[in-house]
Amino acid sequence: MKREPSAKNNLNWCNNCNIPLIGKTCSCGSEPKNIPLLRPYEVRPALSADYKLIKTLIEEKFGEVPLSQVILLNKTGGADRNDLIIMNGERLGWLIFDPVKREHRFDIAVEALPFIFSHATKGIIDIYTDTDYSKEHGRIGGKKLKLNSPVENGTYIVKYKAKAGTGIVKDGSIKVKELIQVLPQEVPDPDWDEVIQKNKYHLKNLERSAVRSIKQHINDRPTANVSFSGGKDSTVVLHLGQKAGIKKAFFIDTGLEFPETIEFVESKDLDIIRKDGDFRQKTEMEGPPSKDSRWCCKLLKLIPLNGYLSETGPCVTVQGNRWYESWNRADLEESIENPGNPLQLNISPIRSWRAFEVFLYIWWQNLEINPLYEKGLERIGCYLCPAMLESEYEVVRNLHPELTENWDKFLSQWAEKNEFPEEYLKWGLWRWKSLPPKMREICRDNGIPINYDNSPDTEPADNRVKTRETKLRRTHEPSRNLMPAGKKKNTDKSSAGKKENTKRKNIR
Ligand code: SF4
Ligand SMILES: [Zn+2]
Repeated sequence: MKREPSAKNNLNWCNNCNIPLIGKTCSCGSEPKNIPLLRPYEVRPALSADYKLIKTLIEEKFGEVPLSQVILLNKTGGADRNDLIIMNGERLGWLIFDPVKREHRFDIAVEALPFIFSHATKGIIDIYTDTDYSKEHGRIGGKKLKLNSPVENGTYIVKYKAKAGTGIVKDGSIKVKELIQVLPQEVPDPDWDEVIQKNKYHLKNLERSAVRSIKQHINDRPTANVSFSGGKDSTVVLHLGQKAGIKKAFFIDTGLEFPETIEFVESKDLDIIRKDGDFRQKTEMEGPPSKDSRWCCKLLKLIPLNGYLSETGPCVTVQGNRWYESWNRADLEESIENPGNPLQLNISPIRSWRAFEVFLYIWWQNLEINPLYEKGLERIGCYLCPAMLESEYEVVRNLHPELTENWDKFLSQWAEKNEFPEEYLKWGLWRWKSLPPKMREICRDNGIPINYDNSPDTEPADNRVKTRETKLRRTHEPSRNLMPAGKKKNTDKSSAGKKENTKRKNIR
């Protein structure tokens, strides 16, 4: 069988035009530079809400700083939202959501200084005048210097002689991370239309090969259709499917959809399947679905799908699944028989596209997309989906309090009934049945004694971990004290835990 090309782990950038590239060439003919990306190597444009948020955070910290129109976000692992921001072909910094403080922050990268330093009017720490620096300190890289007057913890710009860099302030001291000679840079400021123009050749190729892949399989079953979810990926495959000659499409309404999604779907000519199961009854019996127990998929999607397939008979279904969405999809093949229903052969023609290519294609083809993307959601599914980040759930709380208030009420009643701590709802711990190491670490760092299964750790406080090393060891290696008597040992101890650690190391 033909081997799939491996996922791209970098992004090409034309410095001459100052634009990101899909392929290895720019239409201007100059040689692009290569930007390494962080796992899972997913990269997407910063849309209206993302852009506004980045601008606000930078202004709050460093004053008014001009930003380029084209900004990309490379999603990476962390306790919640953790996006590497790419601008002008450089790392600008990180956009991070703290699930405990319930706020976003911007951590500046040293590579951003040529674009930010000369404009910054605050957020700068001068090593000579603002710290206890003296000649005895010698080299300052990596040293902790006491601040003369306290500032909030966080990442700052530092000034030292003719150099500038970044440093981390923690509890009244600053640790200088890196110093460089900063040369202010002037770069072109193209808009997304120019990015599309310069990438047109590659967009055409992507389209051609996706349509070819659909056509290759269209006759593998007597009928063909497109599975439409209301999201950006299925918007693209619906369009590609139509170009390949497919006339039928379907959408499964889980009963937990956003009103925007329903309105968007109803504007299309497709079958809407509305045989949703009793989600409310099941949650009241079993508790909420979670990232590690997504029973909702079976109840709300697979069962209705099987009902639909029994009416349509054997079919080819074009779907928008992609490698870069998550590691679970990293080995997705072009065509695969649905393991739960042999009637359906699933085709994934855009499996090798990143969200960057998906959005460029949507804009190039002028396709209408779900308005929720521009409002700050990265992924669109059910409004209470446990796979959502807490940063996204905050967006949903603002957009649709009428939906989240009911769900929050249920979660808080469930927590009370099971004697879970209030952080179960407050920090979004309900999203796991077995808390992963990163969340247990947050709990312990904040003095919340909690077990893997969200129940309180009733171990006497005196016996609790006292040193950071012990804390970390306990976080990664389950100790008997953390397991309530009679509970089954959880499975979150081997590869999943290790994967998290690898991801965390890769963040910086
Ligand atoms: S989108 Fe989320 S909540 Fe909805 S069925 Fe899928 S996993 Fe469950
Ligand atoms: Zn160019």
